[in-house]
Amino acid sequence: MFEFNILHKNKNARTGVFKTPHGKLLTPELAFVATDAEIRAIPKKSINKLTIQYTITNTFHTFTKGLVPAIEQAGGVNDYMEYKNVTATDSGGFQVFSLGFGKIHQVGKIASKEPTITRDHDNLLQITEKGVMFSYDEKLIMFTPELSIAIQKRLGADIIFAFDECTSPLNSHEYTKKAMERTHRWLERCLSAIDYRSSIINDRQSSPSSNRQQALFAIVQGGMFEDLRRESAKFMAKQLVLGFGIGGALGTTKDEVKDVLDWTIPLLPEEKPKHLLGIGQVRDIFESVVRGVDLFDCVIPTREARHRILYTTKGKINVRKYKTVNEVADKNCRCQMCSNNLTIQQLNNLFFLKDPRAYYLATAHNIQFYSDLMKNIREAIATDKFFELKEKYLKFYP
Ligand SMILES: [Zn+2]
Repeated sequence: MFEFNILHKNKNARTGVFKTPHGKLLTPELAFVATDAEIRAIPKKSINKLTIQYTITNTFHTFTKGLVPAIEQAGGVNDYMEYKNVTATDSGGFQVFSLGFGKIHQVGKIASKEPTITRDHDNLLQITEKGVMFSYDEKLIMFTPELSIAIQKRLGADIIFAFDECTSPLNSHEYTKKAMERTHRWLERCLSAIDYRSSIINDRQSSPSSNRQQALFAIVQGGMFEDLRRESAKFMAKQLVLGFGIGGALGTTKDEVKDVLDWTIPLLPEEKPKHLLGIGQVRDIFESVVRGVDLFDCVIPTREARHRILYTTKGKINVRKYKTVNEVADKNCRCQMCSNNLTIQQLNNLFFLKDPRAYYLATAHNIQFYSDLMKNIREAIATDKFFELKEKYLKFYP
């Protein structure tokens, strides 16, 4: 049911096709974030009219908000969203991290400054071999690899991720190693929980009426430590999974993201797709594609649209700063706002009036920009012009 084919390579950048139950995903591609199985500001009736090839829904949020039964009853995330293309759900690991080290260290995947001390003992979560215990909404929750897989089965997305422990850029080598080894053991439990080995065998024997199939991706961890990243990549490379996520702490500077990819990707099987989790700035996309990344997901396009930031082929526009400009945001853009000649000033007026159309138009515009960006990348790789395209974009996205 799933098959990944690389169509063309321009050095290590590659373009390919990932066949899924919801059609072909052309790569490289970015997933737009549908946190609660809904892309904010985009009504259901509009989702298929936009150029959205790939979405990712948060396992942790749908679970803690009690949405899983309704999504399952609808027939899975695709039916619930009335969306026809490829879907993914994340493992929940990153959201759990955000409640622990992420919260107390006040960091994300990339720490904003060089850590002066490592801090391993101030986690707000209780992480044991069994899973992660935390309190949420005054309830005590035990999140385990089995629970993550059980929820993701019920959500029924095409691509699902194994439950991992996401470490902080401020964690020590010792702690990161322990967490990575735990993630490796948790992968074994995810594989058993999904009964993945037998489903792959069934698939080979081609049973068309078999249950919905999902592609499990394993997540490489190891923080910002070269030896650990290499060890994790080597371990994951041997597993019976259809693709890989690259997750966790990605360093303290943007350059360290490149290092993590340089250590990891050459050790993973070339013929399987790789998804860099939670990264989506224009520059980072180019620097990752050039290293062999196929898939991304990021809240940037949709979240920034709601904060009045528009992405254009000439760089980012802050609508608040340009509110008197009586011009279209991007003349080359085919979104509803730009193709109807709605100007930045007019958009700002809609925002000022809190008109819901403002949020929709800005979000749809950024979705169009990112879809075009990824399409341009695919076409440039196919015609050996990736590096020229990279230079062109990076002039406006330094
Ligand atoms: Zn536009």
